[in-house]
Amino acid sequence: MTAERHVDVLVVGAGPAGLAAAARLALAGAGRVEVLEREPEAGGVPRYCAHGGFGTWTRPLTGPAYARLLVEAAARAGAVVRTGVTVLDWAGPLALATVGVRGPETVTARAVVLATGAYERPRAARLVPGTRPAGICTGGELLQAVHRYRQPIGERAVVIGAEEVSYAAARTVRAAGAEVVAMVTGLPRAGSVRALDARLRARIPLLTGTAVTEILGHGRLSGVRIRHRDGRTGVLACDTAVFTGDFAAEDELARRGRIALSDGPAPYTGRPGVFAAGGLRQPGLDVRAAVREGVEAGGAVLEWLVSRP
Ligand SMILES: Cc1cc2nc3c(=O)[nH]c(=O)nc-3n(C[C@H](O)[C@H](O)[C@H](O)COP(=O)(O)OP(=O)(O)OC[C@H]3O[C@@H](n4cnc5c(N)ncnc54)[C@H](O)[C@@H]3O)c2cc1C
Repeated sequence: MTAERHVDVLVVGAGPAGLAAAARLALAGAGRVEVLEREPEAGGVPRYCAHGGFGTWTRPLTGPAYARLLVEAAARAGAVVRTGVTVLDWAGPLALATVGVRGPETVTARAVVLATGAYERPRAARLVPGTRPAGICTGGELLQAVHRYRQPIGERAVVIGAEEVSYAAARTVRAAGAEVVAMVTGLPRAGSVRALDARLRARIPLLTGTAVTEILGHGRLSGVRIRHRDGRTGVLACDTAVFTGDFAAEDELARRGRIALSDGPAPYTGRPGVFAAGGLRQPGLDVRAAVREGVEAGGAVLEWLVSRP
């Protein structure tokens, strides 16, 4: 049987954006503010980003430390964070169908904040031809495998992309004791200062203006074929290929509800009472911007609640 509950504000996703929105709402006395998170722990992507790059210049933090601060702030403010609960679909304009340890539930709210984040487009979505061997992952999957699950990766990795996250992936490959064969980007130059730094200081070859045109190998990856913009081709021998960056919105829930995310200014959506923030709204934004968006969404929800007592 499906249980039914009512809350004042339901936030979907306990990443930086969702937690920041919940903290602001709970602090302002918005009533019962509940955050639903499908993972067993709250904190979103930063939970497994063991590298620095979070926090501020004066107080640099690793991802997990930053995630802990956000979770504690939301809890201190009075928001309820429920982990291991996946939001599956809409059950009404402001009602969501969920499943978790308590079984299926329908949760109705006066306002909903969607903060489901973004994902790095995997190999399949980038339409890279070739075989389907093991050894191919995204940057986020690599970070989780190494830092969270302590799984072995291969010995020679090619990192595709030259953005901030690509640099984090390259460092993670090295931390796992493997070699970074090269960072490869189709762009004419590195997309971040850190990726450039990877070439100069960490001596990782950076191939710009270069596309990965084929995946090679049966069973395990044996290499990637590349093509430079002047037409030269070659093969980089490797047993691991990490597709980094190139973010897309995790917008399945919004699409299921036929909710246009870009209708009107942020954080409003095409459905009254439903708001959106963070990577979902702007895939690829950094964590500070995600938190800022969450806080702004909290402010917009407060106005909405006041206008509809
Ligand atoms: C590999 C990698 C490295 C990064 N490194 C840095 C860095 O060094 N510095 C920096 O500033 N930024 C970095 N970022 C970017 C940063 O992580 C994002 O800006 C930030 O996490 C966005 O926050 P968010 O809350 O929008 O999304 P997320 O952190 O993705 O959180 C969304 C949450 O929603 C949950 N969720 C999704 N769908 C559902 C559902 N249906 N039901 C329940 N829960 C759901 C997810 O499980 C997730 O926990 C990195 C990103 C990646 C991928």
